[in-house]
Amino acid sequence: MKIKFLDLNRQYLSIKNEINEKLLHEINNNQFINGTAKNTFEENFAKYIGTNYCLGVGNGTDALEIGIKALNLPEGSEVIIQANTFIATCSSTTHNNLKIVFADVDYKTMMLDLDDVERKITPNTKLIIVVHLYGQSCDMDRLVNICKKNSLNLLEDCAQSHGAYYNNKKLGTFGDISTFSFYPGKNLGAYGDGGAICTNNLEYYTYMKKYSNLGSIVKYQHEIIGRNSRLDTIQSSILNVKLNYLDLWNQKRRDKAELYKKLLLNCDKIEINEIENSCIPVYHLFVIKIKEKREELIKFLQDRNIDTIIHYPIPCHKTQAYYDYNNLNIKNVELLSNQILSLPMYAELEDKEIEYVCENIINFFKC
Ligand SMILES: *Cc1c(COP(=O)(O)O)cnc(C)c1O
Repeated sequence: MKIKFLDLNRQYLSIKNEINEKLLHEINNNQFINGTAKNTFEENFAKYIGTNYCLGVGNGTDALEIGIKALNLPEGSEVIIQANTFIATCSSTTHNNLKIVFADVDYKTMMLDLDDVERKITPNTKLIIVVHLYGQSCDMDRLVNICKKNSLNLLEDCAQSHGAYYNNKKLGTFGDISTFSFYPGKNLGAYGDGGAICTNNLEYYTYMKKYSNLGSIVKYQHEIIGRNSRLDTIQSSILNVKLNYLDLWNQKRRDKAELYKKLLLNCDKIEINEIENSCIPVYHLFVIKIKEKREELIKFLQDRNIDTIIHYPIPCHKTQAYYDYNNLNIKNVELLSNQILSLPMYAELEDKEIEYVCENIINFFKC
């Protein structure tokens, strides 16, 4: 048996006719930029998340960069970010001429450690970017209160958390701005790059819409110096189809996660990542912690045709790009980077495939 980490073809085959029809329609329709499907998707996605506005942009990195820019923070302001995120959260902050302050995560959930956040707030802190990594969240009520108490902006990086909840509210509705990626492998993925920004703030939305469309709302009237980052019409039409299936796919991911948990329950060599109370996750990734012999396990599984990946092997502050921060010690993030392993996870993964993965993990550890 070959178990791919992700098999997008299975998803495509399950919605092939609908997708093909929409693609042909868009190709015949010739409205490739700022077409109707983009507006429709923006409306549908705003409604799905529960914000007043949604703006489609080129990708999740641009969503972060443009979203941060809309906040109009003084140059050099401090931005608190967890150190175990994908690098885009950091690069988009740096490109806005802001100073990153890395925070640690809670060992059990691997989500932002709010005690550490509170310790790291200074008079220069203006923004907290929380990343709903793996499709989970931290205690969002407490985080919102910390931001209120200290007059800080909150931005949610929802690139891995489309459709997840905290306290019966969708992730992406807690911050001033929330950003999404539609990279093909995400829970809601396009057939190329794509991203979106959600907000309830009309002023931010109007600015971002202009800025991402070369500074203009009306063609050739450039009110500000903008840039070009728009969600393609073709990608929007694909996302319009897929959005109808997102809740179903997320529920399937939760079911797969429960099966993994049940099968691995008695193996004391691994720990399954914990979910914060009141969070309904969407398992963009299913991550386990392995305290010994991780590299040997990876090889053992690979020899048996089972793909696994580490998200992420190098914490942001230890990357070459952020060499200024290399000497920092962010305890749990560093510890976890040597223990984490993501197992195959997608809605179309079959139960017998999960059983095969777990059997092999149990055989390896003899647990
Ligand atoms: C995927 C991802 C991004 C970047 O999205 P792109 O669409 O690839 O630019 C940003 N943040 C996180 C946490 C991600 O997982």
